[in-house]
Order: sequence, then C-alpha cells, then structure tokens
Amino acid sequence: MTDNPTENTMDDLRERLAEFVREYERACVYAPNTLVSEFLDSISLTHTITPIREPEHGTLYRYVDRKCRCDECRAANAAYSREYRAGLRREAGKHG
Ligand SMILES: [Zn+2]
Repeated sequence: MTDNPTENTMDDLRERLAEFVREYERACVYAPNTLVSEFLDSISLTHTITPIREPEHGTLYRYVDRKCRCDECRAANAAYSREYRAGLRREAGKHG
C-alpha cells in the first residue's frame, strides 16, 4: 500500500484496462472503439475523467494539429516558418 493516491489510481486503471482487454481477447472480438468506450463508461462510475486541456492559442501545435487559424496561431506558424527558412539558409551558407 502506497501513500501516493495518484499511483493507486493509475494501478487501478491499468488493472481494469487489462481486465477489459483480457475479456475481449477471450471473446476473440476485435473492437477497440467499443472496448475504449465501455472502459470509459466503467471508470466514469468510480473516477472523475478530466479532459486534457486544449493547447494554447498561439502555438504551432494548435495550428498544425487542431488546424486553428486564428491570428495568434497563424502568427505562431509564420514565426516558425520564418525560423525554419532562416535555418535552411544558414545550413546552405555553411556548406555552400
Ligand atoms: Zn488559435
């Protein structure tokens, strides 16, 4: 028994997920979407599911992955492209 509640929760979730996988394997069913949603239903009875926070605006991740095109995210992408091209020029200069 550990004093760390996070650790206990993680172990508990791992164990229960493993149980679900075993059950599906026994039934020889390949249904990952069903598995995941059933698992989430089951843990939501005993755990609070905290949604992962959306990446901040003005980050390249938000621009590329979330395809956000607000001013801040476009500016982040523009800054990245500028740096990337400058890096290429530096590389070319080194070898050329
Ligand atoms: Zn944005």
